[in-house]
Amino acid sequence: MPRHVLSGNAAARGSALGRARVRLPHVLNVEEARIAPEDVETELQRIHDAVDTVRAEMHILRERLHGALAHEVGEFLDLHALLLDDPELLQGIDALIRTGRYSADYALRLQRDRIAAVFDGIDDAYLRSRIDDIDQVIGRLHAALHRREADLQGVAGEILVTDNISPAELAQLQVQGVMGVVTANGSALSHSAILARSLHLPLVVGAAAALQKVNDGDVLVIDGSSGLVVLEPNAADLREHHARTSNARREQRQLNRLRREPSRTLDGVDIKLWANAESREDVAEAHALGSAGVGLYRTEYLFINNNEIPDEDTQFRAYRDVVLGMTGRTVTIRTLDVGADKADNTGLALRNEPNPALGLRGVRLSLSRPGLMHTQLRAIVRASGYGPVRILVPMISGAEEMFAVRDMLRAAMHEVARDGSEMAEKIPLGAMIEVPSAALSLPMFIGACDFLSIGTNDLVQYLLAADRNNDALGDLYTPLHPALLRLLRDVVRIANRRGRPVAVCGEIAGDAMFTPMLLALGLSELSLHPATLLEVRRAIRGCDLASLRAHAPALLRARDRAGIERWLAAHTPA
Ligand code: PEP
Ligand code: MG
Repeated sequence: MPRHVLSGNAAARGSALGRARVRLPHVLNVEEARIAPEDVETELQRIHDAVDTVRAEMHILRERLHGALAHEVGEFLDLHALLLDDPELLQGIDALIRTGRYSADYALRLQRDRIAAVFDGIDDAYLRSRIDDIDQVIGRLHAALHRREADLQGVAGEILVTDNISPAELAQLQVQGVMGVVTANGSALSHSAILARSLHLPLVVGAAAALQKVNDGDVLVIDGSSGLVVLEPNAADLREHHARTSNARREQRQLNRLRREPSRTLDGVDIKLWANAESREDVAEAHALGSAGVGLYRTEYLFINNNEIPDEDTQFRAYRDVVLGMTGRTVTIRTLDVGADKADNTGLALRNEPNPALGLRGVRLSLSRPGLMHTQLRAIVRASGYGPVRILVPMISGAEEMFAVRDMLRAAMHEVARDGSEMAEKIPLGAMIEVPSAALSLPMFIGACDFLSIGTNDLVQYLLAADRNNDALGDLYTPLHPALLRLLRDVVRIANRRGRPVAVCGEIAGDAMFTPMLLALGLSELSLHPATLLEVRRAIRGCDLASLRAHAPALLRARDRAGIERWLAAHTPA
């Protein structure tokens, strides 16, 4: 095979060299096969054993997950476990074996095709794309039927070439030592892409010709920064790959030198870097990297990961542990934000909401369940006896909600004080600014806020009417939009005028590419996952704040994404 270059989209940077492992789409190529009546029970037993095997496999995988992204990946595994237990799936297969006298393999395929036909008819692109999850579960079942390992085993040192990849698979692949992944479909904004970046696993997506061109065992070099995939690389390609990897190692060494350095601009202004942290590992890393504290602790994962509503003591212990882990640095605990894409199995979020992103999520859900909110606030107030705590409220859309939460906090503090528990005298209460109406009506309720945190992940989604989880929208979901920049500037202005600290805690805070833009817009606090804290610190250290702010008007005059990108290119430190 001669050298050949395929191009895809850069999704997670890093250069990888390895043998290709091609995984064809999970469509089962199974011939129709009928069985004799006396074999029905054997085939039923085979499929039931396969289900048990897959369930056990997923349980082991779930147990092995740890670290920063365990909860996100865990959610996907939970979804797959739910699909596996879905009576529709299994009863359908059983019926096909029993009455249709099909082999277990063929019944599996028929049932898959039936479900796929239903998905095909859905006119919501995101929901339609969930057929991938069904296919992944079916693929695992098929492998188990033949007592094969699920088809991603033994990929150490290889580069996986596939149609698509789920976050759960990605995490599994990384544990197994895969070098990189190329997908024919998918977008750089997907959860898998976000996860690959956090895992530092090179990923190229949308390399449409990959499955036709690449064969098992071909040698590949992939570059997750340019999106290029080189098949059977020549000497120059190999040299470039080696140069890229040694640059990356040098860069990591340089970054590590910043572990104890301040996040200070060239003109001597300290930028406060908080951490988005939930797990023990995140908290320890946030502490070691010298973050100002925890700027976002998403409590919903305590609920989602355990599939039940934790009682006050369970919550108290979890919050207290984070507070203790930060040894006197402030911990910002966000009240429950289940609902929409953070669906749970606790029964809290409504099922089948017609438009869950606009439904009963975040503070709306909490206020509709005052007992739940009260318990959570009591647990946080009790944790404040162990170190400084702030409370952050998600999905605030206007003044009433903020005033209502303030009243509830007052009541909870009163009660905990009456119980005689140790607690802070004052607990700052802040609003997430992630709904456009909150940003626009901020002057009406900023008096009730001690601080603000801008959730750009949702703010972009609601401002641009672009679903944050819908890969089909491509570039439509972007923080590089003049409307977002103007809103950010206004929120920061109002907060500064009223002397309220304001941070950005969405994904863009953790991407060094956006740092000059955020600083220019007046931000001086960012909250981000510890995985990228050093990169953002380095970016800050390369910025001249006064000069960036002097150039903010030009940024705000940019008409479109291209204009903003040009501004960024001109103001990104070398
Ligand atoms: C956000 O919306 O930017 C945010 C930080 O909250 P989450 O991602 O948890 O919705
Ligand atoms: Mg949000």
